[in-house]
Amino acid sequence: MSGHPIIVWFTQDLRLSDNACLHAAVASGHPVLPVYILDDITPGEFAMGGASRWWLHQSLASLAASLQALGGRLIIRCGEAGSVLAQLVAETGAKAVYFSRGYAPWSGGLEKNIAAQCDAAGVECKRFSGFLLHEPEAIRTGSDGPYKVYTPFSRNCLSREISRQPRPAPGKVNFHTAEITGDTLDDLDLYAGNPDWAAGFSEHWSPGEVGAHQKLTHFLEQAVGDYDQARNLPDVPGTSRLSPHLHFGEISPLQCWAATSHAVATAGKNIDRGSHTFEKEILWREFSHHLLHYWPTLPTEPFKPEFADFPWLQDDEKLASWQKGQTGFPIVDAGMRELWTTGWMHNRVRMIVASFLIKNLRIPWQAGEHWFWDTLVDADIGANSASWQWVAGCGADAAPYFRIFNPVLQGEKFDRHAGYVRKWVPELAAMPDKFIHKPWQAPDDILRKARIKLGTTYPRPIVDLGQTRDAALAAYKTIRKPEVV
Ligand SMILES: Cc1cc2nc3c(=O)[nH]c(=O)nc-3n(C[C@H](O)[C@H](O)[C@H](O)COP(=O)(O)OP(=O)(O)OC[C@H]3O[C@@H](n4cnc5c(N)ncnc54)[C@H](O)[C@@H]3O)c2cc1C
Repeated sequence: MSGHPIIVWFTQDLRLSDNACLHAAVASGHPVLPVYILDDITPGEFAMGGASRWWLHQSLASLAASLQALGGRLIIRCGEAGSVLAQLVAETGAKAVYFSRGYAPWSGGLEKNIAAQCDAAGVECKRFSGFLLHEPEAIRTGSDGPYKVYTPFSRNCLSREISRQPRPAPGKVNFHTAEITGDTLDDLDLYAGNPDWAAGFSEHWSPGEVGAHQKLTHFLEQAVGDYDQARNLPDVPGTSRLSPHLHFGEISPLQCWAATSHAVATAGKNIDRGSHTFEKEILWREFSHHLLHYWPTLPTEPFKPEFADFPWLQDDEKLASWQKGQTGFPIVDAGMRELWTTGWMHNRVRMIVASFLIKNLRIPWQAGEHWFWDTLVDADIGANSASWQWVAGCGADAAPYFRIFNPVLQGEKFDRHAGYVRKWVPELAAMPDKFIHKPWQAPDDILRKARIKLGTTYPRPIVDLGQTRDAALAAYKTIRKPEVV
């Protein structure tokens, strides 16, 4: 079908099912022109990190294949999104631009410019939702303000009946058939694969819509019943691992919510508790984006302004030891190596490594946030900044600063038989359970038997936990009135 097309600009909604934007374009009867734009300019310092680019490459390949199966072609271009869209409108004579809303600090301005540009050109511009269950503007406190505390926020969300059902993927699409030039995926240079630093990623992930639904189904069939307990154990596949799929919009939160409700209706009480906890985690995701929407400086500035004066330390050597998983604290090193190898880290361990960086090394949370931004396949501007601020104690509804995780006790509690540490720090594998989370306390003969030479085969601890804890608490006192402490 020829004629004036509707540009469907895919953003963080790389899926065909439950995609309101695509559905509206298809329903209009006009030819559809699917477009993806790699915009490294608008986000500035928050342009996508390395691991996310690896994911995006695979995800776009998957989306392009799904569109091709319907007879279409995904047009890929690079550049500032507004200019690229204007160019495409001029080239194709498009009558409309449809896209899914973004929530990053730069999204509102970008979308406004695009709307104004379309308006000036007499082109319809429509923005759709789908990345969240609840728009930030819809969830307001009793005094009509944004929420700063998770529990009342989640209660408000839970009090709303979600009657919408996810839409299936369109079975048939009328694509715009005129020849349009575009870049190839390789032109985007998202992941050169030489050297293949992400080789381990492919073993753990199947980016794309099909992979996302497989993960959800597997989780609901195998793990949701025990989620309440198992979600804290890094050695157990007890969580959904949906975070990168949700971040890139390969699956919508509505699809996750509806599938969970359906599973509860079918399986009943067995999974009641686990599924409710899972839903509350989905609401943490909503809360992060709610905060980001109302406090767009969340990725860079402490939510609590008194933390702007916190006496942080600058120590590039210790930062590098943390990044490489060479701190001498097994659970921290295991987490950082899991992250490097797979692009993901278990939530419990994220909290432990973040607390260690911020409180024991006293390195600014933004340094950790940036490392995660570059290395996580689920790096998400809302969840990442809100979570780092949460651990640092300077965020909204954050853990108090004086709650300092002890990595030894955390390891002994949540990785009791050290399956996680043995997997990611194999040089400690032969260590007995009693000492594996604190090898520096092991007697010489135990170290010898386990073939460990501290300082050679595995690092000695880079800091003293007690001293750094005291120093962190003293530093914290300098930014607060004594009576608040
Ligand atoms: C320092 C730090 C940084 C983090 N950075 C990110 C990030 O960049 N991107 C990201 O998606 N999550 C981040 N998280 C939150 C959390 O660790 C991950 O969402 C979770 O580990 C993903 O694994 P999962 O999909 O198996 O989670 P599940 O336990 O199966 O949870 C289901 C979904 O709920 C959401 N979710 C769960 N916990 C949180 C949370 N605390 N905050 C927001 N959403 C949550 C995720 O979308 C997740 O996929 C961070 C946490 C910490 C402590």
